[in-house]
Amino acid sequence: MIFAADYEARCYWQDDEPLPPEGPASLPRAVDVLVIGSGYTGLAAARETALAGRTTLVIDAGPVAGGCSSRNGGQVAFSFKPTHPELTAQHGKAIADGIYREGMAANAALAALAKDEGLDFDWRPCGGFLGAHTPRHLRALVGAFEAQVPEFAEPFEVLPRHRLSEAIDSPLYHGGVIVSSDASVHPGKLASALYRRAIAAGATVVGHCRALAIRRASVGLEVQTARGLVTARQVLVATNGYTDGVLPWLQRRVMPVGSYIIATEMLDPELVRRLIPAARNVGDTRRVVTYVRPSPDGRRILFGGRASAGETDVTRCAPAMHRMMTEMFPALSGAKISRAWMGFVGFTFDTRMHLGEHDGVHYCMGYCGQGVPLATYYGRHIGRRLANPAVAPSALEGLEFPSRPYYRGRPWFLPLAVQAYRAMDWLGV
Ligand SMILES: Cc1cc2nc3c(=O)[nH]c(=O)nc-3n(C[C@H](O)[C@H](O)[C@H](O)COP(=O)(O)OP(=O)(O)OC[C@H]3O[C@@H](n4cnc5c(N)ncnc54)[C@H](O)[C@@H]3O)c2cc1C
Repeated sequence: MIFAADYEARCYWQDDEPLPPEGPASLPRAVDVLVIGSGYTGLAAARETALAGRTTLVIDAGPVAGGCSSRNGGQVAFSFKPTHPELTAQHGKAIADGIYREGMAANAALAALAKDEGLDFDWRPCGGFLGAHTPRHLRALVGAFEAQVPEFAEPFEVLPRHRLSEAIDSPLYHGGVIVSSDASVHPGKLASALYRRAIAAGATVVGHCRALAIRRASVGLEVQTARGLVTARQVLVATNGYTDGVLPWLQRRVMPVGSYIIATEMLDPELVRRLIPAARNVGDTRRVVTYVRPSPDGRRILFGGRASAGETDVTRCAPAMHRMMTEMFPALSGAKISRAWMGFVGFTFDTRMHLGEHDGVHYCMGYCGQGVPLATYYGRHIGRRLANPAVAPSALEGLEFPSRPYYRGRPWFLPLAVQAYRAMDWLGV
């Protein structure tokens, strides 16, 4: 039996950080800014527009902050997947530099929220460990770090196999790299802190109120919601991996991909320290992403990834997640699961986020699993831009947001891709 007596199919973070309140039952009929989606993006944006004196309403189809923002792994890493040379080839050096600068600023801004502005979300500059699952992948991983553009280089240390126990007690890896600039947060506490700031600035945040349609009005836009019509001078769609048909153009550009996490029962803290010394975030070179960390109290292992090819129920896939965890940590074969949950990550076809305006509607989304720093940073940025168009644009603005023929918002090709990736990981290619 792998389930602990207290097992529940719900998010571990909510054990010590309940979701924010639902807000008032009725909506204002007209606002300056309507934000659709109450995660990090929407809340960070709403604070800025409210601070600038704009009446600001945030609505969410589900519970306030109940999407990815309260249920992620809480890992903070440098956040753009395309490498600097790839971005340079696509957009030129100036834009690649700008995007990289913003990626680094996003991490620094999150650190500043904790260190300078005193927000409490268990910010820990713990660093990260990236394990290589084959010797070839170790060479490629080290090569990639050595080839970093000096201006944007992250400090790193190579750990050969015989020193692995300094970072992890696992037979899976042939060595790896420690990245000292990575950090971890409590995602639920971060969402609550951003919520409180948005409210303190004067924004109204309302849960369980879906936006159904957006139309142009004589002045601004009209948004049909589950609780009536709201007119707004500006609308921001901040729905990331939960993007629905409210703006079909966006739905054709963002792919919802389920990511699953299990939390062990309380363990001996000595065992947790032995498995992941220094409590770093752990990731690896396999194509099917795995992300692991201790809980902030150092009493549990949180193991995230994807066990099944298609989307599934968290309890049904928990045994497979447990097998994956014990492959990484054989010492956890007797450890039971206390919590299991999932959420939808928003991926894009060019593996990077996008922000801009389409048909008079603003959007900011597609963080490809890196939204803890990015959504917080770009939410704030787009909020400032909405309030004051003279604010300098992001390097990402104006870049094409690609879709694919026959893609309408349901990634039917995902199970095939996951199976192919899993086979490649198994073969070590
Ligand atoms: C399991 C998991 C683990 C992750 N781990 C990490 C990690 O370790 N590090 C990292 O950097 N990132 C991670 N991420 C990604 C990160 O959580 C997201 O990128 C980030 O939270 C996105 O914030 P957001 O505000 O844009 O979207 P969300 O927080 O997802 O909010 C979008 C909201 O939009 C609402 N919505 C959708 N449609 C409508 C509508 N029509 N009307 C009203 N509301 C609507 C939804 O209900 C939802 O609440 C993870 C994600 C998941 C799911």
